[in-house]
Amino acid sequence: MDIEIRFIDNIKDKGLFAKRDFNAGSVIFEEDPLVCCQFSWNSAYGYKACDHCLRPLETAEENARRLSAKPDLHLPHPQCCNTNKNTIVSCTLCGVNYCSTECQITAYNQYHRTLCFQRKSSLEDHPLYQLNETWKQMHYPPETSSIMMIPRILATIQQSPNTEHAQAQFLQFCHRTVNENTKIAHKLLGGKFAEQIAILNGLLVRAIDPEGVSHFLTQEGFQSLVALIGTNGQGVGTSAVSQWVTRSSELQLSPEETVKLDQFIDKLYEDMDKHSGNFLNNEGVALFSLQSSCNHSCVPNAEPTYLHNNSRLSLVALTDIKAGDEICISYLDECTLQRSRHSRNKELSENYLFRCTCPKCEQQAHDPDVTSDEEEEDDEMEEMSE
Ligand SMILES: [Zn+2]
Ligand SMILES: [Zn+2]
Ligand SMILES: [Zn+2]
Repeated sequence: MDIEIRFIDNIKDKGLFAKRDFNAGSVIFEEDPLVCCQFSWNSAYGYKACDHCLRPLETAEENARRLSAKPDLHLPHPQCCNTNKNTIVSCTLCGVNYCSTECQITAYNQYHRTLCFQRKSSLEDHPLYQLNETWKQMHYPPETSSIMMIPRILATIQQSPNTEHAQAQFLQFCHRTVNENTKIAHKLLGGKFAEQIAILNGLLVRAIDPEGVSHFLTQEGFQSLVALIGTNGQGVGTSAVSQWVTRSSELQLSPEETVKLDQFIDKLYEDMDKHSGNFLNNEGVALFSLQSSCNHSCVPNAEPTYLHNNSRLSLVALTDIKAGDEICISYLDECTLQRSRHSRNKELSENYLFRCTCPKCEQQAHDPDVTSDEEEEDDEMEEMSE
């Protein structure tokens, strides 16, 4: 391994460190998630992805047509689309789709044997269906997490040949106090969270056989899982169109053809933006073992990306990294990262319960606690929704 997890201090606990030099742009490591799940509304709105790895199931052309609402659109250079529809398979019992037999078998052996609906009763009566629908009513887009991660985590533990090891893999993320878990759940679910936690917990109890996981089904245990997905869940995005754009931009074309292609792509993004706004990707959330041990910095030296267009994460260096350096990512979105130290730390302490001491925050330690107009508006909106 070119990296190692090291103890730092009692406040930051552990962190990830480089054991050799990495150049900016290089891949530091890659890993598959412990569990991954598409967002509930993303799936309901027709974003078609593999139920296990989130790989797009539409061709780039189908994807572009749907997102731009132009059913007659033709994409040039169709060889640049890498969706292979011939390998798509469905679960014969519940109908969920996979990009390949490999994903179907992996999912079945890891958690799907336990969670498959099997259509014994009508779909709407199934407690997992109700759990998903109830979650959707509590958590409208833009989505940041999915309650459906929790049944997958529990079923993964139950189906593992080594239950203790599987359990330990997830328990490494549950190190917070009951009070801290409550704060995170509150932030994730909003004002009526206590009531909502009880409803979701009740549905989960109906959906899952308690064998070996009963301590996660208590109120306290359930809240620790909600906090786990709230703080450690990493967003995953995949897209057939953006893969096609990347690959077609690498073609050896004449200057005239290049101009034509660029104009086509600009117009396509304009049309997709008009019809679908920011919602262009298949989106979901995943839990990663190594990536979760990366601490936050407001001047990150690495970022998670999805170079394989599925849930396999590649951590890419943003700057040159020297052996011995700590590898840090940003927990904040691009826009929040550009805001004042005060605003960044407000977001970090609400969602992750810590204050940042990165070089940028230290440097700005004596800046006044300014709140821009835009941030005040956000705060007002938040108060109204609570
Ligand atoms: Zn797949
Ligand atoms: Zn099934
Ligand atoms: Zn910072």
